[in-house]
Amino acid sequence: MRTLSGQVSIVTGASRGIGRAIALVLGESGSRVVLASRSEPELTTVREEIRKKGGDALVMVSDLTREDDLRKLVNGTLQEWGRIDYLINNAGWGKHAPVAKARLEDWDRTFQTNLRAPMILSQLVLPILIEQKAGAIVNISSISGKTGQAESSAYSASKFGLIGFSQSLFEEVREYGIKVATILPGYVDTPMIPPVRRLDRSKMIRPEDIAHTVLFILTSPASCCPVEITVRPQQTPYK
Ligand code: NAP
Repeated sequence: MRTLSGQVSIVTGASRGIGRAIALVLGESGSRVVLASRSEPELTTVREEIRKKGGDALVMVSDLTREDDLRKLVNGTLQEWGRIDYLINNAGWGKHAPVAKARLEDWDRTFQTNLRAPMILSQLVLPILIEQKAGAIVNISSISGKTGQAESSAYSASKFGLIGFSQSLFEEVREYGIKVATILPGYVDTPMIPPVRRLDRSKMIRPEDIAHTVLFILTSPASCCPVEITVRPQQTPYK
């Protein structure tokens, strides 16, 4: 079903994992998709997968920790396709470390990738969405955005922050018909989760499940906004 025909979506972190799945599902749904991350070969592969299924996609190599790249991503999308309908802030990064031993540069990178980039990108696309009086911003947080865990302090803080940002932004822009939604996944089987013996990957959420949650939000009626969706594995992945 090509329910998003004529629309343009920016998906960050589209090179692999959840972002790749979101890009493929939005492409299949008829949206033109801008694929953003640092890895050109992987993004090009995703672009070709979308094109093979009759969709269209654009590769924009971007390091989301760099403000210049964020501006180029939005301006490049407008130059190429003249509109932006959906911003999917999916890219994320984190490093496990106890607070007492964590490195400041890792904290900075975590906040820049997981919180500052979504905030700046939202700021850059908002004038366009407000002008259109339509569109959506979907932020991929985590169940770590509601519950802290040992050795996950900066990641968790960034994901808590992303929920707060989303809730505030929704209150600012709801009257314009703009949706702002946050998805909070539990374990998803992607390269972000390293192989660990106590975890059964076959019981984790599939990246496509999160992609379909994004599609549900984007295709929800104009009269409502699913502001926050928690997605957990049906069965526990803990062995
Ligand atoms: P992943 O497989 O590690 O993919 C992360 C993506 O983020 C990659 O495409 C990576 O692209 C991109 N990225 C990271 N740093 C970047 C930067 N500085 N600039 C541009 N792109 C950057 O992770 P995932 O599991 O798909 O995670 C996607 C989102 O879901 C993240 O926000 C994550 O926190 C969240 N999440 C994941 C899980 C899980 O269990 N997997 C659970 C809850 C929430 P490049 O390396 O190509 O730049």
